[in-house]
Amino acid sequence: MPDSWENFLSDCERCRACPLGATRGKVVVYRGSPKAPLMFIGEGPGAEEDARGKPFVGQAGRLLDLLLEAQGFPESVYHIGNVVKCRPPENRVPTEAEAAACKPLLARQILLVRPRVVVMLGATAYRYITQSKDPISRVRGQWTEKNGFHMLPTFHPAYILRNDRERVVLWQDLALVRRKLEELGYLDPLPNQAAMPSGRG
Ligand code: SF4
Repeated sequence: MPDSWENFLSDCERCRACPLGATRGKVVVYRGSPKAPLMFIGEGPGAEEDARGKPFVGQAGRLLDLLLEAQGFPESVYHIGNVVKCRPPENRVPTEAEAAACKPLLARQILLVRPRVVVMLGATAYRYITQSKDPISRVRGQWTEKNGFHMLPTFHPAYILRNDRERVVLWQDLALVRRKLEELGYLDPLPNQAAMPSGRG
């Protein structure tokens, strides 16, 4: 029987496949559109996400929203999730075992969303999704195609909050993503070139 969002969300709620299930507040699955041509995958929930049950709703998420809005991405074209759905204590990086335990849920999520473009936000998402140890600073902004997905690694917005001079790099990578969605026919080109916002969202 084909999977459904209802079954999937209830399996996420019940999941205790790794130790993070015991310490989480809320399980954090997604925000944005349930079916979308573009999927962002980050690392894992932080404190605000854990409290609200939605990914990227803290400061890093607000920065991502600010940049997406300035580049003219409507919410209907994207879906945002994470490598792990429960908050690692003290915001530590999820372990390889935790990411591996959560991978079947992420795979089901991707099948339900059916994106054409997958953007890996940050080194952890890149490493756990591709199994590559290449530094994110070297691979960011470079497209690869795998299993019919156009995949792009870029910096995590939390990194940009700590290194504002790299904001332009994330901005440029999001412009690449926009162009890809235009090429694939999901977005019309913007009438004027978007200007990079300087605030934090
Ligand atoms: S992080 Fe993923 S695998 Fe671990 S308990 Fe949460 S939902 Fe399950």
